[in-house]
Amino acid sequence: MSRFWNNKVKELVPYTPGEQPKDKKYIKLNTNEFPYSPSPMVEDIIKNYDFEDLRLYPDPDVSELKNEIASFYGLNTENIFIGNGSDEILAFAFMTYFNSGDKIYYPNITYSFYPVYSDLFDLKPETIPLNKNFEIETDDYKNLDSGIILANPNAPTSIALGRDQIEEIIAANKDNIVIIDEAYIDFGGESVLELTKKYDNLLVIQTFSKSRALAGMRLGFAAGNKELIDGLDKVKFSFNSYTINRLSIKAGTAAVKDSEYFLKTVEALIKTREKTKKVLKEYGFFVPDSKANFLFVSHSRISGEELYLKLKDSGILVRYFKKPGIDNFIRITIGTEKEMEIFEEKIKEILKQNK
Ligand SMILES: *Cc1c(COP(=O)(O)O)cnc(C)c1O
Repeated sequence: MSRFWNNKVKELVPYTPGEQPKDKKYIKLNTNEFPYSPSPMVEDIIKNYDFEDLRLYPDPDVSELKNEIASFYGLNTENIFIGNGSDEILAFAFMTYFNSGDKIYYPNITYSFYPVYSDLFDLKPETIPLNKNFEIETDDYKNLDSGIILANPNAPTSIALGRDQIEEIIAANKDNIVIIDEAYIDFGGESVLELTKKYDNLLVIQTFSKSRALAGMRLGFAAGNKELIDGLDKVKFSFNSYTINRLSIKAGTAAVKDSEYFLKTVEALIKTREKTKKVLKEYGFFVPDSKANFLFVSHSRISGEELYLKLKDSGILVRYFKKPGIDNFIRITIGTEKEMEIFEEKIKEILKQNK
């Protein structure tokens, strides 16, 4: 600690990203990255990039990528905002739609960045417990007195609400902003992007880090009514006009263009997820129905922490949260078919030792 830190920074508890180990080569099933390469069209863009271009600032409006997203999802360009990863958009959204001291509602078990941003921007988190099946109870989110943020599917539980359930929440909170974080929506959930045309209190956020295999590029987007988007722009242009670099704009545009590759690889991932889920259930694991690119599982014979450590010993990294209510679970990112076969073998051995 330096004596030059301000009072806020002295007290901050930052988000802990999943391990990116350098000591040895692990099978990495811990940070929900996509196991397949980005689209070959992205590879092409990067390999043929004219580096002289980097002398110039990028387009601060990111129009090329906005247009591509708008056309892919049937939205208007003025309803799209692009961020340097969706985490950045989340931060801008907290800054745009809340005053310091405001309440913000989210589940007691959800993406652990929400409490971090709440603290950073002086909001008062009102956490609503999941039910005993780790599900969000929609009735708990009706007629609230401040803004709401929900990850759908939720993290790390992997469980999704349906479109109708989300719409009930939006409709029952006409005077509150409702932010839906759809980081994992492409893996089987129902997006509410379309509802941004109907409700002026809905902001939907998606990322290129999961289903589009571009976690390293840092791209995300938000969709919402024009006034909501204008607010995000105001904050962005008061902070950093050039959040998205030239190469990212080109690469992101190519990734959206190649819808065929996107759909094919997402489908392959879902197939592997269902296969892994079936095997884990046969081994006696509790496995909620996942609509994400990960499984959230527990076993009655071995603790989450022990599983995490034993898997790590055998070269497989999964995510473990030492947090009340979920400290007996591990979160397993779905890897390639081959990686999951190795994972299943290791799990089988570990369970044998723990008879
Ligand atoms: C991964 C993730 C994000 C952030 O992704 P970016 O890499 O910042 O785009 C946001 N929300 C949830 C729930 C996530 O799991």
